[in-house]
Amino acid sequence: MPMIGVLALQGDYEKHALMLELLGAGTLQVREPADLARVDALVIPGGESTTIGKLMAAYELLEPMRNRIAGGMPVFGTCAGLILLAAQTKENHQHRLGVLDISVQRNAYGRQVDSFEADIHIPAIGEKPFRAVFIRAPMVTEMRDSVITLAEFENKPVLMQKENILAGSFHPELTEDTRVHAYFLKMVAERGR
Ligand code: GLN
Repeated sequence: MPMIGVLALQGDYEKHALMLELLGAGTLQVREPADLARVDALVIPGGESTTIGKLMAAYELLEPMRNRIAGGMPVFGTCAGLILLAAQTKENHQHRLGVLDISVQRNAYGRQVDSFEADIHIPAIGEKPFRAVFIRAPMVTEMRDSVITLAEFENKPVLMQKENILAGSFHPELTEDTRVHAYFLKMVAERGR
């Protein structure tokens, strides 16, 4: 049984853990480098990316996380988690991992409708549409060729993958649909440790 770490510094990490456990994975809340060393993969949840980034720096997690990801550890970032993975944001002073070749604009889906739901098509998980929940979501404005788009919404990538890195701008943990988490667990099984 793979042990999936859920970065538990801030944000809705508990919902991710519940969904992964429902799918038969073991989970561990990751707060410090010693926790990270025990897991086979890592989920970075939604929340507030500036806060999570500051705490990652304070708990000395940035370098160990970059090293594990460079070494092939599967990682799945959602919403704020996607921002933390991104190579570029407009606020480049923000503490980030910077391991995924995308540019993002935070809170870019408009101020009036800062939360919304939409049915998106994710061919990699099947025909049935996926109900995506967007909460003050980041918009992916640029993406280098090496990153693969798994789903789009209004012509912008909202779920993407580069090798061991999976990133989504929506919150799959807030639905009953476990297919995106199952896709991540399949990545974990294929890549192993
Ligand atoms: N707006 C948040 C940020 O910029 C992300 C929102 C979320 O994770 N739901 O960090």
